[in-house]
Amino acid sequence: MFDVEKIRKDFPILSSRMNGKPLVFLDSAASSQKPQRVIDAFEDYYRCRNANIHRGAYRLSYEATDMYDKTRSRLARFIGASDPATVIFTRNTTESLNLVAQSWGMANLRAGDEIILTELEHHSNLVPWFMIAERTGAVIKYLPLTQDGRLALEQLEPLISKRTRLMSVAHMSNALGTIHDIAAIRQVTRAHGVLLCVDGAQGASHLPVKVEELGVDFYALSAHKMLGPTGVGALYGRRELLESMPPFLGGGDMILYVTRDGFVPAGLPEKFEAGTPNIAGVVAFHNAMDYLEQVGLETIHEHEQNLVKAAVNKLREIPGVLLYGTEEWDWRGGIVSFNIEGVHQHDVGSILDEEGIAVRAGHHCCEPFMRSRELSGTVRASFYLYNTMAEIDQLVLGIQRVKEVFKSVARR
Ligand code: PMP
Repeated sequence: MFDVEKIRKDFPILSSRMNGKPLVFLDSAASSQKPQRVIDAFEDYYRCRNANIHRGAYRLSYEATDMYDKTRSRLARFIGASDPATVIFTRNTTESLNLVAQSWGMANLRAGDEIILTELEHHSNLVPWFMIAERTGAVIKYLPLTQDGRLALEQLEPLISKRTRLMSVAHMSNALGTIHDIAAIRQVTRAHGVLLCVDGAQGASHLPVKVEELGVDFYALSAHKMLGPTGVGALYGRRELLESMPPFLGGGDMILYVTRDGFVPAGLPEKFEAGTPNIAGVVAFHNAMDYLEQVGLETIHEHEQNLVKAAVNKLREIPGVLLYGTEEWDWRGGIVSFNIEGVHQHDVGSILDEEGIAVRAGHHCCEPFMRSRELSGTVRASFYLYNTMAEIDQLVLGIQRVKEVFKSVARR
């Protein structure tokens, strides 16, 4: 039985106060809070188990290596990858996407080749492609959006040409909460031999993801958005693709051997993991995945959908609140993006903060989308397994307070 009050007790920060009010944390799309067991695992690693991996000829190092490798297998199971070596640890989604763009892109893109993106992408899924397009002469094309921020999927096939090599798209938008139909996109891209790279920063954290079932070629994620520590991310890639790609970063651990004249890279996954990784973070991430799976990603998604429906329905009743995003609920995750007419998002954020409510205000690293809608930004409330209906009511009260403050400013 899903018991949100019981879950909240596992997250120490949720019982804290901000500006004298109980904290209402509605910014999990930026970074989630951490349960006690993740915090404990992190501390336990440094207190009792700290040693560098792979290199030590002593027990502590063997054990650290074992914990690190077990987390890789855990993550492979978590995202439905049958071969743990196809899961590369990185620092975050951003680094994973840069790895694909630089390593796969430099090896495969020629002038005039095309990459398909969407205008709704996070800068992490735009800028790395701009950078590689500049270096190779590749061309970026955009799949258009519908008015409510879904992808105009019927326009995908006509957009693909003989020069289209890869499409990169978010699983779920951090700006609007739209969930994209990756299986449908996959069908079209596969039929034309186009690779599919998925920015799963909001996907693996909130939705059940099975990369091999979905048939994607690359899938990028961040541990800090899925109850884990910052500084840990991952990239799943199809084995033959990863094997054919050159290393991204060079240094220790990623080589088979080095001579005066050059080097031979190690096999997977070491080839893409140069230098000492965030071992403590990776080890603690294991506990985050255990926690998420114990609750169940289906259950979490259902809870978030209940919250988002309730929030949209309540906010809709407030005059002057402008809501963005689809109301096709099957394609909506736990994010509400809105504005209050005549009030700048940052003012909304500051007044909500006075009430102890943490939201994000701005362009959410999705400037091209905001520009396309002539918006300077939005206020974003984003939910996770620990948010409650009572917190939605707090948000509604907070928005009413914003309106009162601005009404009295206007009267002055
Ligand atoms: N893509 C999306 C959809 C995101 O929401 C985010 C984080 N806001 C990122 C990419 C980048 O994640 P990170 O900062 O962990 O690399």
